[in-house]
Amino acid sequence: MISKMKNLIFIGPPGAGKGTQAEMICKNYGIRQLSTGDILRSNVSKMSPLGISAKSFMDEGKLVPDDLIINMIKEEITKPEYSNGILFDGFPRTIPQAVALDNLMDEFGFKLVRVLLLEVPDAEIISRLSGRRSCRTCNRTFHILHNPPPDPKECDRGVCDIYQREDDKEETILKRLSVYHNQTSPLIEYYENKGKLAHINGLGTLEEVYKLIEKEIE
Ligand code: ADP
Ligand code: ADP
Repeated sequence: MISKMKNLIFIGPPGAGKGTQAEMICKNYGIRQLSTGDILRSNVSKMSPLGISAKSFMDEGKLVPDDLIINMIKEEITKPEYSNGILFDGFPRTIPQAVALDNLMDEFGFKLVRVLLLEVPDAEIISRLSGRRSCRTCNRTFHILHNPPPDPKECDRGVCDIYQREDDKEETILKRLSVYHNQTSPLIEYYENKGKLAHINGLGTLEEVYKLIEKEIE
């Protein structure tokens, strides 16, 4: 059963800190993060049919086609682990995806509480993404300067396997930023018109940003 109560959406440029904040929000509010990027990367490493279709788009910093993403979401949200509510991270990223999500929410009768727009200027995004390191085991992200990866033994979901994502190289970062501005930013007006959007200044420390988010969802 999907919760009717606590569903949130994160939007914002790649590397704005959505995944980092999602971990704290989910821990404190008892809801579950649904990261389309994490699900896609897991499909790529298993070489599932979805992973095989998605890989070339992801490597080039382009969006995976809407029909593949929408089918993936339909399958995912029926899983029991999302029963207390979902924090959508990285979805929707286009208007057709947002419309599909509205329809699914109507169908399942669940409520959208807030859409959190994490705002970070492009220059800071480049610095955050080029210093980002990710864990293959637990999907957490770190930063070589602002949030260094832990000792492998301290990873609470297994032994950390830290790596730099192929698409976190500068050339692909610029491409992903332009995809965000062209294809994803129209969602800002879409959710503003629905009265759901909260602007969050993503430029502070992890704790400062979290406090701003808390104010919006309490
Ligand atoms: P980031 O955390 O840097 O914003 P993600 O992990 O969310 O990046 O996404 C990585 C890649 O996966 C994207 O560049 C895109 O190719 C693909 N992807 C993730 N979510 C979606 C989506 N909702 N629609 C289309 N493509 C997606
Ligand atoms: P997203 O999920 O939006 O793509 P991440 O949460 O993976 O972004 O964060 C991108 C990078 O920026 C990571 O290296 C992360 O450690 C770092 N980061 C996240 N929040 C902040 C912050 N408030 N200040 C500085 N660096 C941050």
